Amino acid sequence: MFEAIYRLGMYMKEDGFMDNRHNANRKNNKQQETIRRILLSVIFILAMCILFVLIIIIKNNSSCISPASNKPLPSDSYIGFIITALPTQPLEDPTAPPESYPTEAVNTSEVSPTEVVSPTATSIGIPRSLTVGTMEDVLNRLEELKTLNSGERIILIDVGHGGFDGGTVGIDTNVTEARLNLEVARRISDKLAEKGCYVLLTRMGDYALAKSKNADMAERKRIMQLDLFDCCVSIHMNALDGDRSVRGLRCYHYKNGTEGAKLAATVLKAVRDMTDETRTNTYTGNIMVVREPVAPSTLIECGFLSNSQDEMRLQDPAYQDVLAQAIANGIDNYLNGNTTY
Ligand SMILES: [Zn+2]
Repeated sequence: MFEAIYRLGMYMKEDGFMDNRHNANRKNNKQQETIRRILLSVIFILAMCILFVLIIIIKNNSSCISPASNKPLPSDSYIGFIITALPTQPLEDPTAPPESYPTEAVNTSEVSPTEVVSPTATSIGIPRSLTVGTMEDVLNRLEELKTLNSGERIILIDVGHGGFDGGTVGIDTNVTEARLNLEVARRISDKLAEKGCYVLLTRMGDYALAKSKNADMAERKRIMQLDLFDCCVSIHMNALDGDRSVRGLRCYHYKNGTEGAKLAATVLKAVRDMTDETRTNTYTGNIMVVREPVAPSTLIECGFLSNSQDEMRLQDPAYQDVLAQAIANGIDNYLNGNTTY
């Protein structure tokens, strides 16, 4: 009997012990689950904090630097970045100051002036150089140039021949003088614009100024006699029958001792400085394009299309560019009083 009771007690004790162990295990499991949840929450919060810090570091190192000023933008721009980065938030916050919005607005206002400023454009909308257009465009441009302040330098480039009048012809390639005159004149115009001059070309395409040669010359004379230009330069190509060896550039003017003679000598000097031209003398001639202009004037015969070497290089864009730069330098030197005579 005693033995039976003892065994039952032991059984109950063991059973109770097991219950206690089971309860303890359940308790432990609950505690572990709670700890695990807390740890996960802490890790998540830490991860969000690290992400937030990384976003700020990346933003600070890149897009917050204004390229123009090299200074950081106001700290409000962080807000703008975060608003942009989180699409669930409204993109426009009516309470936010304008500085908190994208940095492009700041950069655009700093960059745009450099895009507007051009060596061939002015703030009042008249380009310094205009080289393509109809005869109507030429006349419209002439009227525009009349509206410029008297302090501006305006150069007349008379582009020889054109349209029905091709001028002389290349001995080897049949290239027309009219075409080469326009190509060289356009380059001179752009070079002069870079120096701050306004330029009028008497033609900006392959056409004559009028329907007949006499009317064409009369129209050129009318423009040349306007009291508008600081100087007048006619561009032509030369030719000589019977002697293909004669080559080189020649500058003509009306009479010795005139401003035109000074302009011609100064342009020739600039051409000598930039090309293999060795000629030092200019030529006088009773020619309309140097006799009639009100402004100091010269006629430049750029080379001989009756000479193979001249004919070849006058068609070379690189040589045309050098020649145009030299002529523009000469005109600029003359206008600046840096003359050769
Ligand atoms: Zn000619």
